[in-house]
Amino acid sequence: MIQIKNSQQIKAMREAGRITGEALIVARDHIREGVSTKYLDTLIRQHIEERGAKPSFLGLYGFPGSACISINDEVIHGIPSEHRILQEGDIVKIDVGAFYKGFHGDSARTFPVGRVSEEAAKLIAVTKQSFYEGMSAVKVGNRIGDIGYAIDTYVSRFGFSAVRRYVGHGVGREVHESPDVPNYGTPGRGPRLCEGLVIAIEPMINQGSFEVRELSDGWTVKTVDGSLSAHYENTVALTPDGVVNLTEVEIGE
Ligand code: MG
Ligand code: MG
Repeated sequence: MIQIKNSQQIKAMREAGRITGEALIVARDHIREGVSTKYLDTLIRQHIEERGAKPSFLGLYGFPGSACISINDEVIHGIPSEHRILQEGDIVKIDVGAFYKGFHGDSARTFPVGRVSEEAAKLIAVTKQSFYEGMSAVKVGNRIGDIGYAIDTYVSRFGFSAVRRYVGHGVGREVHESPDVPNYGTPGRGPRLCEGLVIAIEPMINQGSFEVRELSDGWTVKTVDGSLSAHYENTVALTPDGVVNLTEVEIGE
């Protein structure tokens, strides 16, 4: 069942969203060659806890980190490790959530490590824009399928593909609530969008095929063809004043 939020609840979610967004900024500011993904995870956890919040993902379904940190052809759910060291030219995806005053925020970004290839930079930019294409379909009377259609149509123009096995979702008292928000879809299909809906829109975009596989660690998801993957996510609310991006904390981010 879709949990509709009132304006007070959305206000509280803005606070959780802000802490989530700030954690990503902290991580971004420490990304450089030679840094381990565990180090970034520790900084993220410290930031969230200093703000009186809890990392949403720590222990969620048994996940061992505060953030999912995935590199290059890893799509999502990478486990932070002191043995995973960032290299010049990598692209690194950081996916984080913060639980504060009863609600979660959920957001992800893809950052370059130093100079990256033109193709990698393009994938990052197109993935970011595909989020905005999806967000622009969030209107009262539209349906969930309109969001995914907007994302998939946009990335296809560049020869990229939207991952199908993993999807966006409702966000609230639980990190993962109804409805599913796929990154592909048919216009006019799926649940209707209404005021009080809060969802994570999170395009996971591959350079090659949309097919992915889970590694034997039980978490890390990679592209099957070894192509690069990028991720961009925000938690957004549909309010009487339009769509509000709850996890956005800095223009140009
Ligand atoms: Mg996320
Ligand atoms: Mg999410």
